[in-house]
Amino acid sequence: MIDLHCHLLPGIDDGARTLVEALDMARIAVDNGIDHAVMTPHLHPGRYENTRSSTEKPLREFRAALRKEQIALEISVAAEVRLAIEILPLLEQDEVPFLGEMDGYRIMLLEFPHGHMSQICRTAQAKSHKHGQKQVI
Ligand SMILES: [Zn+2]
Repeated sequence: MIDLHCHLLPGIDDGARTLVEALDMARIAVDNGIDHAVMTPHLHPGRYENTRSSTEKPLREFRAALRKEQIALEISVAAEVRLAIEILPLLEQDEVPFLGEMDGYRIMLLEFPHGHMSQICRTAQAKSHKHGQKQVI
């Protein structure tokens, strides 16, 4: 089973706070039948700056820790992307981590601002679609 949305990478958002906590959470995931987990730390400009390039090192380090602890969990990285106007330059720079690809589109795990759907959200969504991207909400 694949987990497409989790916050296990330690210390980079509001998920696991430490490596020990992250490893404990990984063991629980495996015990519940998960064999692949996509790390989806928040990408929320101004709050959590977890871009494609900044998550590479934490991913490598956590993968190494999982192997050292012999926890059979494959991991990859994407992000839970807060839709905001500040995301647009990150899309242009290819710094938004996507879940993967389907039907020729890159798939983004998207988080809307709490409480409302602004015109900015609709504009950003339409623009990203034009660039061959779709969102999972
Ligand atoms: Zn989340």
